[in-house]
Amino acid sequence: SDVAAKIAAGEVVERPASVVKELIENSIDAGATQIRVDLMNGGLQLIRVTDNGSGIAADELPLALSRHATSKVEQIDDLEHIRSLGFRGEALASIAAVAEVTLLSRPRTAEQGAQISASSGKLSDITPAASPQGTTLTVRNLFSAVPARLKFLKSRNTEVGHCHHLLEQYALAYPEIRFTVFSEGRQIFGTPGDGQLSSVLVEVYGLPVAEQMAPLVSEGQDDDPERPRVSGYTSLPTCYKSTRQHISFFVNRRWVLSRMLTAAVEGAYHSLLLSGRHPIAVINIQVDPALLDVNVHPAKTEIRFLKERRVFAAILRAVRAALLEEPE
Ligand code: ADP
Ligand code: MG
Repeated sequence: SDVAAKIAAGEVVERPASVVKELIENSIDAGATQIRVDLMNGGLQLIRVTDNGSGIAADELPLALSRHATSKVEQIDDLEHIRSLGFRGEALASIAAVAEVTLLSRPRTAEQGAQISASSGKLSDITPAASPQGTTLTVRNLFSAVPARLKFLKSRNTEVGHCHHLLEQYALAYPEIRFTVFSEGRQIFGTPGDGQLSSVLVEVYGLPVAEQMAPLVSEGQDDDPERPRVSGYTSLPTCYKSTRQHISFFVNRRWVLSRMLTAAVEGAYHSLLLSGRHPIAVINIQVDPALLDVNVHPAKTEIRFLKERRVFAAILRAVRAALLEEPE
């Protein structure tokens, strides 16, 4: 029903940044190498994500906007081995329940693009439309039919800030993707997409800081499939922030928040008597997907490891080694 759809939407769609997150995850899953995000009025008036990914065939457009339609999980077993960012098949349907959505797409092999719209959850017909290869998803008038939600949102700048922060995180996780972000038609963030994490660090933290970050030192190869692999950068003792919000974690390239992981990074600094400082760090962790539970929360920024202490120890060691490797 309409009400049920709106309640379900509330779990996925909290604010404009939650919409942006779902859309760029879809673009990443579609193999895009370029992702452009446009925002008007902090995303409330318009959010548009344009990618050059695989695209969607015309006859599959209605499915993309329907609840529990996902092209990514073939069978229940697949849930244990999720490689894609999306798997629930409810994001676009939820967004379409609380906004006007237009989906325009053209797969590589199609000669012509096609378009479909949804408003208050009702789908339009599919119409042919000119489109570059890839997908453009436009979300207009988010929450205009949900005044209670609108009231909770902060100023336009605050919402743009949330979107900006989110896009920085995804850019850090995917240095090979060229991200560009526009607010009111002005570019506010961009990355070159050259595959170098160091290039993204320059865009996110600026040059003096980016130059004071040391690569994490990973341990030698071995055959233990259960051992977490850690890579990334952490700031030298000469460079730190006064707040804690500058440590980013990606588990199998999924952005996650975790006190446990933060404690591991800070523990490395403490163990070198660098306490009281809040480092800047970007930490990539690769683990066997079977050792993860990514299904904890619909928004999926929390994560549970089945062998938590091994992950903690691997991060602590890699950060310590990075700091020790640099002459003070
Ligand atoms: P999920 O990502 O969990 O599968 P979504 O509701 O986010 O669910 O998307 C539904 C489906 O629409 C996806 O499974 C995919 O097939 C298709 N889709 C959505 N966005 C894109 C995109 N940018 N490029 C290609 N396909 C897309
Ligand atoms: Mg998705």
